[in-house]
Amino acid sequence: MEFDAYQVSRMLGIQWEHFTYRSRVGQKDFFWHQGMRANDVALFLMLLEQIGFECDASYLINLLRPEILTKGKKALTRSELAITTFEKKRHRHGELYLLADREKNLPLESKIMGRITTRLGYGLTMKQNPDGQIVSICIRSPKQPRERPGTKMERCPDCGVSWEKGDPDSSYAHRQQHQKLMRYLHPQPHKQYLRAMQTEQMPGLVSWRSAGWKHREMHNRALAFKREMQYESCQWAAPGQPRDRDAVGYLVANEEGAIIGAYCFRERTRLNQSKQWTLDWIWICPKHRRMGHLARRWKGLREAFGDFAIEHPVSDEMKLFLSKQGDSALLSL
Ligand SMILES: [Zn+2]
Repeated sequence: MEFDAYQVSRMLGIQWEHFTYRSRVGQKDFFWHQGMRANDVALFLMLLEQIGFECDASYLINLLRPEILTKGKKALTRSELAITTFEKKRHRHGELYLLADREKNLPLESKIMGRITTRLGYGLTMKQNPDGQIVSICIRSPKQPRERPGTKMERCPDCGVSWEKGDPDSSYAHRQQHQKLMRYLHPQPHKQYLRAMQTEQMPGLVSWRSAGWKHREMHNRALAFKREMQYESCQWAAPGQPRDRDAVGYLVANEEGAIIGAYCFRERTRLNQSKQWTLDWIWICPKHRRMGHLARRWKGLREAFGDFAIEHPVSDEMKLFLSKQGDSALLSL
């Protein structure tokens, strides 16, 4: 198997950027290249080491660190932070998961298919589902994470974020994240949605003309979907960005008017110029899953959008849902 640096780096969340060379003559057409910033190359090497590859970033890090430290910066990017804390954290990240999150529900029948210990002492445990697909890889560092005296690593049971109890910066960062995440993980009755229930025939419907708050709520769910599926891009325009006229969103609310999820349809043009609706993404907050929210709306969706296609990749959960609805055929549209 070939090592595809581009794919692997994207999977690890590394940014690639377009760049071009400055020209001396007044040039009209630019030729664009894709590249990684030096800081991100260092981060990529560090992450490769964390997932068990033997790869030493210290030479590059020693070149880059002085500049980051002398800038007197107030804010640090992910790669800058990783570079400045490299020595302290090397070989001590603890447990790290690839493909599936520790919290993510794996199929019940997934089994451990193998364990490897690398020469440097990284322990890899792989699990596979009944179809033989690898569904999760856990990588354990050779050394335990070092806890600072007076602090303790905690994982918030509500929002799932890990933070260092006793460290003011870390506590602050968690509180901020917590508030943001809880808005969609534990949704409460939504004032504007409740008002829309009184005044609109389809309060959940979000078109490019809809009110700003609806777009904000859609964007938050698109972010949640992106976060959970570990995708690269967010499939709903952020507030302030130009709205997408081909997208139709729908906010899913419960009886109390709490927004528990959302889905998005998009009209695509096929090669032969015909139009086709596609279910682009769907996200329901974990607490409210498997309660029939989608099943109750399914018939209505089929009436509104006809034989729509389903954007790939499709989760196992969604495949199962489609087969229960007798709609597996939509997968091959
Ligand atoms: Zn929390």
